[in-house]
Amino acid sequence: MRDSLQQTPAADTELVNEVEQFDAIIIGAGVTGLYQLYRLRQLGLTVRVFEDGGGVGGTWYWNRYPGARFDSESYTYGYSFSEELLQEWDWKEHYSGQPENERYLNYVADKFDLRRDILFDARVTSAAYDEGENRWQVQTEDGRRAEAQFLITAVGVLSARYIPDFAGIDSFKGDWCHTARWPKEGMDLTGKRVGVIGTGATAVQLIPEIVNEVAHLTVFQRTANYCAPLRNSLIDPEWQREIKASYSEIFKKCSETPGAFMHEFDPRSALEVSEKERLAQYERLWAEPGFKKWLANFQDIMIPGEANEDYAEFVRNKIRERVKDPVVAEMLVPKDHPFGSKRLPCETGYYDVYNQDNVLLVDVRQAPIERITPKGIKTSDAEYELDVIIFATGYDAVTGSLTRIDIHGEGGQTIKDKFAEGPRTYLGLQSAGFPNLFTMPGAGAGNFTRGCEPVVEWVTDCIGYMRENEFTRISATPEAEEAWTKYVAEASANLLRTKANSWFVGANIPGKARVLLGSPDSAPVTRAKRAEVAANGYEGFLLQ
Ligand SMILES: Cc1cc2nc3c(=O)[nH]c(=O)nc-3n(C[C@H](O)[C@H](O)[C@H](O)COP(=O)(O)OP(=O)(O)OC[C@H]3O[C@@H](n4cnc5c(N)ncnc54)[C@H](O)[C@@H]3O)c2cc1C
Repeated sequence: MRDSLQQTPAADTELVNEVEQFDAIIIGAGVTGLYQLYRLRQLGLTVRVFEDGGGVGGTWYWNRYPGARFDSESYTYGYSFSEELLQEWDWKEHYSGQPENERYLNYVADKFDLRRDILFDARVTSAAYDEGENRWQVQTEDGRRAEAQFLITAVGVLSARYIPDFAGIDSFKGDWCHTARWPKEGMDLTGKRVGVIGTGATAVQLIPEIVNEVAHLTVFQRTANYCAPLRNSLIDPEWQREIKASYSEIFKKCSETPGAFMHEFDPRSALEVSEKERLAQYERLWAEPGFKKWLANFQDIMIPGEANEDYAEFVRNKIRERVKDPVVAEMLVPKDHPFGSKRLPCETGYYDVYNQDNVLLVDVRQAPIERITPKGIKTSDAEYELDVIIFATGYDAVTGSLTRIDIHGEGGQTIKDKFAEGPRTYLGLQSAGFPNLFTMPGAGAGNFTRGCEPVVEWVTDCIGYMRENEFTRISATPEAEEAWTKYVAEASANLLRTKANSWFVGANIPGKARVLLGSPDSAPVTRAKRAEVAANGYEGFLLQ
């Protein structure tokens, strides 16, 4: 098994000659791309979607590894734009798994007849802005070409998978894959010696699912993370009825919270209540499903400082309680970053795995991986013989899927060069010098669909406004971009999210600038700022 990251199929010469013309091109058919297609069609635009994958779903198409599932409550994650869809679709679990999520997005694609405008197995390799024609010229890996006035990159926040540049990877005699390219037919791990590199949210979901299938599991950990019990369960018919009757309240609640989840912080300080009361709240929330223990806790747990550290110690002790061998337990206890500074990995049986005889935890911070060998993985301490290596090594988040496309704007400048010191955008929506290109800011820290629907609607309204007012070109001004980029740097300096070496700040990718990849504002503030910009005639943009 091999990863297709570097594959370049030969171009089909017949296709190269034909240049299809559209009003808009969307790259990506995940949650964002599908909804953007639906909306632009409503506006009467001709649209082509190019999608690298063989089907719709994005994250939920690619991530087929065992255990892949939501950390958002399923019914808070689904689209809200169609009441009919909401009433037709039954989420079966509170935190739905990949197969169901992929089925859902296929259901959406079919219901709204979206497929006819999507070209699958079509990876866009370049996009160039033709200044004379005011059109984007897009080319795919297999040589297809298309042009459009608008280009919308719905390429995903966690979609450019990342494998560290280990020497010797091609010499490995066994099978290997990145979790985001788990084969459709599955991987037979029965009786095999398996190595998992990484202990982030994905590994935490995967490991308990495979541990009883494999003969032996070696987990290579660089950073211990705070993980909390997911406590997933089936949605019974009564609950299903209740969900369907209360969608408007659910979405209203999500629209009011900082991360667009349905959890609200306790406005009290953890430090203003008695120790007994504080612990009682910690325990009560710990017993609840999902992100409540993170996002419905005392508000100052989300601020670097004493309250945060108090809760971090509570979570560390929860880990210590689960893992029998005290040496292994200490290896699993995070000590180098504050609680909540990363998206909280949710687990089902993860820590218990380390009580099994067939599992070995290796600390690669203490003994780094030196190379992959034909037989397995060699660290500075030992060589581990393996039949399969699974890279749960994450993503070049947010900007990675954009900079992997050769995007040329005015004067031939590229997005890759422009983003070398971190993203330079206005509100995450556009970068100056790349007219009519909407870069679709993701909701990396939040509940994704709740963040993405309003962005898609904003872009749609913007294009509608341009058409009504006979503008053909919109471009962020350099001044607006500079002000926003400066604001992101300043406002994020004290955010909890910037206090860990995580993908939120690009710290998982060697050489990537350490900058908050997203907005430092809460979801309601972000929406309000965008709305104000639109209300002021798209202030900060040049319309021509
Ligand atoms: C394992 C996992 C679990 C997650 N769980 C949650 C969760 O519970 N809640 C939550 O809010 N968020 C979650 N996320 C974040 C998730 O990425 C978003 O929720 C959402 O799916 C993003 O949708 P999208 O359409 O913007 O991007 P994606 O789903 O990433 O889709 C982007 C698409 O663009 C395509 N693409 C990229 N580059 C090109 C190119 N050059 N040419 C052609 N096509 C291209 C990709 O193939 C992909 O299909 C999770 C992410 C992962 C990886």
